[in-house]
Amino acid sequence: MDYDVIIAGGRVAGAVLAIRLGKLGHRVLVVEKSHFPSDTLSTSLFRAPALRVFEKIGVMEKVAAMAPRMELIWNYIDGHILVDPVEAPEEHLRFFLCERRITLDWILYKRMTREKNIEVRQNAKVKDLIWEDGRVAGIRWNEKGREHEATARVVVGADGFYSTLANLLQPPYESYVPVRRFAYYGYFRDLDSFDVPTAEHHFVGNTISYIFPTDYDLTMVAVSMPIQGFAEFKKSPLRNFMSHLESLPLLVSRLKDARLVSNLYGSGNIPSYQRMPYGSGWALTGDAQQVMDPWSGMGIDHATTHADMLADSLDSWMNNGSTWDAAMSEYHKRIRAFSKKAFHRTTTFAADLRPMTQAALMKRGLLQGAPEVISVYKNYQ
Ligand SMILES: Cc1cc2nc3c(=O)[nH]c(=O)nc-3n(C[C@H](O)[C@H](O)[C@H](O)COP(=O)(O)OP(=O)(O)OC[C@H]3O[C@@H](n4cnc5c(N)ncnc54)[C@H](O)[C@@H]3O)c2cc1C
Repeated sequence: MDYDVIIAGGRVAGAVLAIRLGKLGHRVLVVEKSHFPSDTLSTSLFRAPALRVFEKIGVMEKVAAMAPRMELIWNYIDGHILVDPVEAPEEHLRFFLCERRITLDWILYKRMTREKNIEVRQNAKVKDLIWEDGRVAGIRWNEKGREHEATARVVVGADGFYSTLANLLQPPYESYVPVRRFAYYGYFRDLDSFDVPTAEHHFVGNTISYIFPTDYDLTMVAVSMPIQGFAEFKKSPLRNFMSHLESLPLLVSRLKDARLVSNLYGSGNIPSYQRMPYGSGWALTGDAQQVMDPWSGMGIDHATTHADMLADSLDSWMNNGSTWDAAMSEYHKRIRAFSKKAFHRTTTFAADLRPMTQAALMKRGLLQGAPEVISVYKNYQ
């Protein structure tokens, strides 16, 4: 075998997995089709679960230094304002960060390259798998116009929503919820922000708009809307995006000097699903095996945590005498347990945010309503 582990994809899931395994002494090859520093589609909010993993792999200080810590959550819901502190079991992790992926993924890439057991190939696209006796035994990839191949004890797909490995392996879906919403976002300068860094959400009907301070003094602004409006919205995305923002009563005056300094990015093709995350000689992690509608902004928390759990299982198989089946069924069990509530909540309210926002108002006595709605909300919080 050329390596212990080959990983397709080197962003949040792939990099976390590689760093954890490299630190444990395993020989790792990461094959990544893009070149760092580079961006990917994401509004890039993350919370305590991702921070916990970043702390474990030794990048917390660098990650936290790049963007303002948001310690408050500010929600405008149909005319009401709710402000709450960010909560987390660990006092020192009670904040959110929004960090553009060009910044975050670069920190992770640099950390990977410091680990002597990790080899990273960039501009290298995985094309095919090598099979031996019914087990995945390696990959073939294209790099600089040439085909390469390598073998390993296990091949991992951390290659995201458009996973080549999942396409080749066709793992069965464990759940599937069709596309419910679309999103657009961009980065602004000189948007009149709150005095302290705040995770700001404006809920109006079944729409949500997000204003988050991010790295390099930019402000990330996003909207998420029901998919039924996508065809019309994308005919003139910038005009529709700006006119939605200008319709928000507590934002409009603050847009006076704001300038969009990036492209406007959009997506209207993201369903939610979970699919079988392992088989003979292979595993999937991050978006390659679980995708959630982006409205809840939880993909990074879950991709990093799942990758961390996969590292535990692979290490217990390679180092500590576990069988492949025992180690991987433990991985499967842990990631589903970790994601159960968030996956359910995200997919349920992707269809309609209003039961969630109405219940939040009722709970605080700001709206009369049925107690059943409050219990729905409590179940999915
Ligand atoms: C519009 C939008 C907004 C979002 N906003 C948020 C948010 O605010 N907060 C949040 O937590 N999550 C958000 N997400 C989700 C989040 O971006 C993902 O969950 C997260 O990026 C998953 O990480 P990953 O490492 O699994 O995959 P990715 O980050 O997609 O990385 C996969 C990597 O694999 C590489 N790759 C793919 N195919 C190959 C191949 N054949 N060979 C080699 N390399 C390959 C790609 O180049 C890529 O670098 C959002 C998603 C979208 C679409």
